[in-house]
Amino acid sequence: MVYKQLEILENFKKIHDLEVINNHSDLKRLSRDFYNYSPVLTSKLDGCIADLVVRPKNIQAVLAVAKKCWEMTLPLTIRGSGTGNYGQSVPLFGGIVMQMNYLNKIVNFDQDTGFVKVQTGCLMSQLNNDLEGKGRELRLLPSTWKTATIGGFLSGGSGGIGSIEWGFLRDPGNLIALDLITVDENPQLIQLETQQAEPINHAYGTNGIITSVTISTDIKHYWHSIVIDSNSLIESIDILKICMGAAIKLKLGTILEKEIVEQMPKWFNNKSCLNKVLIQSTLDGIKTIEMLCKKNNLRTYYCGLENDLEFGLNDLVWNHTTLQLRAKDKNWTYLQMLLPFDGENELINNLKKVYGKKILWHIEAVSQNGIPRLAALPVFKWTDQNELNKIINECKKYGAIIFNPHALTVEGGGLGVVDADQVKAKLKYDPKGLLNPGKLEGWIKKEEFII
Ligand code: FAD
Repeated sequence: MVYKQLEILENFKKIHDLEVINNHSDLKRLSRDFYNYSPVLTSKLDGCIADLVVRPKNIQAVLAVAKKCWEMTLPLTIRGSGTGNYGQSVPLFGGIVMQMNYLNKIVNFDQDTGFVKVQTGCLMSQLNNDLEGKGRELRLLPSTWKTATIGGFLSGGSGGIGSIEWGFLRDPGNLIALDLITVDENPQLIQLETQQAEPINHAYGTNGIITSVTISTDIKHYWHSIVIDSNSLIESIDILKICMGAAIKLKLGTILEKEIVEQMPKWFNNKSCLNKVLIQSTLDGIKTIEMLCKKNNLRTYYCGLENDLEFGLNDLVWNHTTLQLRAKDKNWTYLQMLLPFDGENELINNLKKVYGKKILWHIEAVSQNGIPRLAALPVFKWTDQNELNKIINECKKYGAIIFNPHALTVEGGGLGVVDADQVKAKLKYDPKGLLNPGKLEGWIKKEEFII
């Protein structure tokens, strides 16, 4: 049965403690995210719009929304702050968009373990502030952490500032547990321990409504920022690797090619337009980095405590590098990849031979299964899908693992393979397939996963 928008509104208006939004401009705004970084996604997603946006004020209201969606067989797409890049919170088939911003309480903090339980609509900046008061901090921050929610990060993000030490969100030890509401005949609030919670992590909200997460935190550190000048990309990679191998604590290690630096805001690029390595470390680490750079004849600029800076390095790294470029020219787009272990220079040199300065390199230091690695978010001006495919194939040829930001599904943006546990979780917690339909490729082949 296809319902008219007015019928949908009338049905949801009856739910207590639920804000309903149905004016066209808000529906449009709250049905979008930052998918326009990808021309491929833009052509697919422009025009997708929810029939109704709802904001539950408590768990009872979430349960009632789930029940109503089940009864009316309506698609239900969960939204945090809508800062995703892959159209994760865009409702492909209309229906309900449920924004979680009122469920934002910090539920519990365990002094002994540092585990924090928090409702998913909590802003990461708010959570981090609260943790700092307890002598702790978030391990991983997307560069959008000031506006993103913790639920959106867990469901749609992957890593960011802090990945140099803590790896990616799906690495064991980052997510401890979560509370989830099922979308079935009798929606339930259930608690999932670590192992059961795994398939819900980074599933784009396709297999459960997460109402709270329990995550690990780090001891609070004072992160200082430093910038290193270098004459070539390879020299930048070498010094970054030397710093990663030193006995120091690191929060961030980024390389920006000279031509990217030229496009960065004036406050950053007026020092000198060379290739730059951006690092955050504790003060003792900064001293070691300065010593290592002196030994390698590299110039450094100490910037100060990251949190005290009017403009900090956090605004230039991870996908904020692409954001800064796009502020100058909307034709910039990007790719994401894990560079081959010890094969980074070969890949970059070979791609330089083919593409020269058409592809500019932005590199991020990460930990992959506990091993120091380099990831890259190279930027280039968009031409067409063929050219994109060629670049992807060329990177693969030299051993890169691509995380394609021009793909719509969990699998497409990830390793390209179906995670059977994610599909099984969807069968269990969302048997009608109402949650964020169209975003989990494995759901199409779900029969294979019914035991
Ligand atoms: P949304 O975009 O609203 O949602 C993301 C996904 O989570 C959607 O599929 C949604 O359905 C689902 N979801 C949200 N809440 C729930 C819930 N309660 N239950 C179930 N599903 C839910 N990402 C990174 O990982 N690292 C980065 O460094 C990074 N940098 C970025 C820089 C820029 C400039 C931009 C535009 C994006 C960047 N992103 C990055 C992507 C995005 O900002 C982050 O992943 C962010 O954490 C998403 O949070 P959000 O609240 O905006 O989630």
